[in-house]
Amino acid sequence: MTEVIEAVTVVDGTGAPAFIGDVAIDEERIVEVVPREGAGSGLVLAPGFIDSHTHDDLAVLVHPQMEFKVLGGVTTCVVGNCGMGAAPFPAAAAMGAVLHPGHDLDPWDGYRGYLRRVDDTAPSVNVAALIGHGTVRSSVMGLDDGPPDDDQIAAMSRLIDEGMAAGCVGMSTGLTYEPGIWARTEELTALAAVVAAAGGIYTSHIRDEGSHLIEAVDEAIGIGRDAGLPVVVSHLKAMGEPNWGTVAAALERIDDAGPAVAADQYPYTASSTMLAAVAASGRIGTLVTPDAVVIASTTDHPEWHGRSLAELADRLGVPGDRVATAVLDAEPVATVIVHSMSEDDVRTVLGHPGIMVGSDGIPSLEGHPHPRLYGTFARVLGRYVRDLGVLGLEEAVHRMTGRPAEVFGLVDRGVIRPGAVADLVLFDPATVVDRGTFDDPRQSPDGIVGVWVNGARVVTDGVHLGTRSGRALRRRGERVSRTGSASA
Ligand SMILES: [Zn+2]
Repeated sequence: MTEVIEAVTVVDGTGAPAFIGDVAIDEERIVEVVPREGAGSGLVLAPGFIDSHTHDDLAVLVHPQMEFKVLGGVTTCVVGNCGMGAAPFPAAAAMGAVLHPGHDLDPWDGYRGYLRRVDDTAPSVNVAALIGHGTVRSSVMGLDDGPPDDDQIAAMSRLIDEGMAAGCVGMSTGLTYEPGIWARTEELTALAAVVAAAGGIYTSHIRDEGSHLIEAVDEAIGIGRDAGLPVVVSHLKAMGEPNWGTVAAALERIDDAGPAVAADQYPYTASSTMLAAVAASGRIGTLVTPDAVVIASTTDHPEWHGRSLAELADRLGVPGDRVATAVLDAEPVATVIVHSMSEDDVRTVLGHPGIMVGSDGIPSLEGHPHPRLYGTFARVLGRYVRDLGVLGLEEAVHRMTGRPAEVFGLVDRGVIRPGAVADLVLFDPATVVDRGTFDDPRQSPDGIVGVWVNGARVVTDGVHLGTRSGRALRRRGERVSRTGSASA
């Protein structure tokens, strides 16, 4: 059955100028794109947003409607970032216990099993998966902080090979977290070479996003060069006031490295991560003050959510330099929001050609998550395109659609043209905006009028229709049917 979306402003995801036209979809594909004369409805039709940086590996299974993403126009989530992946299962389940307490998952076998589970679950968004280096490493080496021996490298390589053969798009690292923090450049280069041989990419939460930002960017670029594969520097930023402005030099390094090196960013001046990682970095009290660190989620202390470490120091009666330890004693897996970046830097990075957009949202829905989980893409369009003019509409859409499709190898996605898959978002450029705030984060954006995933309508006028038409996207567009036979 053909559906025609009429008289819309088509922003096709390639960066080409917008035009008024009609777009016809049949089954899951776009079949016709026809320009038309005269005024349009004013609504923009764009390819569905590809969230190039998520931690939704398990969220797509336990919250398959994915309201926090699809109501914001996202049609594909790249999961497995920052070294944290979905296989092997036992290590992935440990992440699930932190992010999704109370949701038990039946085990799966490797990435092949995970991607098949995604297909069987049919979430409301598509999923492209990165192999998590940290998950692989801890599965082979436990919490061994030394370098791997030859047998351990071979064992990790086998797990990575399995993931690539299953259709993963590459490997991610998280070099400020255990166990990634223990991995030396040689280890990462050796494992990245396995990914390179299978045609994947290397994405990295780099070793330092503060005073050693440039060295850390250089390490990522060097791994890509030596292993022979494309690189994505994840959530590019400079943390801590003394380091503000250094993003410009980081962007220069990335540009100088050529087209095989890319970066993504979330459009906010606060980060969000594990409190344990922030405390271990020694930054609290040096680069960030206790009032800039706010509890996002805990296991047993909901009354702490939304409170800063400074407030908790008062409440718990402990000195400011010991409050992080006190909180971690009670809540070892607490996550926090850290207000540590500059708005100028956010604009510098977002204004730079080629930078992709990734929410980096932590899908701990019971807590007090960073509002980026819901609002990232609408915020780019509302605040940074319309209100501040940091970048143009066509360019912004390209960086949220066609560009990540290219970087992650998502065939026939991220563009509006006949033959492409109908992952689409219809929005009102005059009203689109994020609504979540740090005090009240769990708000879906305004102005998202319609969302289609694989040709099926999922959202109408900001309302989720219950449609679950997403699936696992495998590298080179390969798709394994639910009975297990491969089709190109
Ligand atoms: Zn990260």
